[in-house]
Amino acid sequence: MNVLIVFAHPERQSLNGALLDVAVSALHAQGHQVQVSDLYAMNWKATVDRDDFPGLKTTDRLKVAAESSKEFTARTLTDDVKAEQEKLLWADTVILQFPLWWFTMPAILKGWVDRVYACGFAYGVGEHSDSRWGDRYGEGVMAGKRAMLIVTTGGWPEHYSARGINGPINDLLFPIHHGILFYPGFTVLPPFVAYRADRTDDAKFALLERDLRMRMSALTETPPIAYRQQNGGDYQIPTMQLLPNLEEPGVTGFALHLQNRNK
Ligand code: FAD
Repeated sequence: MNVLIVFAHPERQSLNGALLDVAVSALHAQGHQVQVSDLYAMNWKATVDRDDFPGLKTTDRLKVAAESSKEFTARTLTDDVKAEQEKLLWADTVILQFPLWWFTMPAILKGWVDRVYACGFAYGVGEHSDSRWGDRYGEGVMAGKRAMLIVTTGGWPEHYSARGINGPINDLLFPIHHGILFYPGFTVLPPFVAYRADRTDDAKFALLERDLRMRMSALTETPPIAYRQQNGGDYQIPTMQLLPNLEEPGVTGFALHLQNRNK
């Protein structure tokens, strides 16, 4: 299997760096091919701007989605973006690894998504009409590939529990899981979350290493998060609301988009 790890931590000698080494060695031990995009080491450009579109004339107004679609199709996007797109196509499994910063991914990783996820590649795929909203949420270019997050947090597990003050971790990660990974077609595995990471000592690291190795060796058999497919008959067209008869008592918000919650 081919695995791409997109790594977003500014310090290679960090806990995240040590966990990256664990993941890579566990994957290699199983005979998988691994590529790592170490975004800080690559000096990854994190903002979308005119420089991303070499075909745009200086007098043209920049319309990001339209220009992205045009230059993706013409293969004229910048070489750094094209290289990351090739890695995504190569990968069977994609792992995004990062410390939780302000309840989401560091800006450099969001910038990787903004730039690499071109129109026609990660969005704007398939038929867009009055009767269809394209191939997304379970379909698209990444269909058939798995993805998961490796995340470290300063907060405790309780802070991220159902009644925890930070909000449930599955809710906080929903925009990444559902919006960034499921949207272009990935099958999304549950995240590996290392809580209270700033308090890691050798004993705790040994447990994290054991658990991460287990997750890496179980990539192919880990049940995915059971998101509902957009084009699987669960949503009204064209409003894309969950069909009323599929609502379950007491289930609201992000959880609506999970199948068979009470079965
Ligand atoms: P490091 O600082 O590298 O290491 C953490 C600890 O692990 C250290 O004690 C280190 O000695 C030890 N360690 C490292 N490697 C090893 C090893 N090989 N063996 C044993 N011990 C080791 N947290 C939240 O919960 N929510 C937030 O919204 C949030 N926002 C943040 C925003 C910013 C800008 C910043 C800087 C932090 C934020 N945090 C937040 C905290 C952040 O998530 C944690 O600091 C981070 O996850 C820790 O990971 P790290 O790799 O940076 O750890």
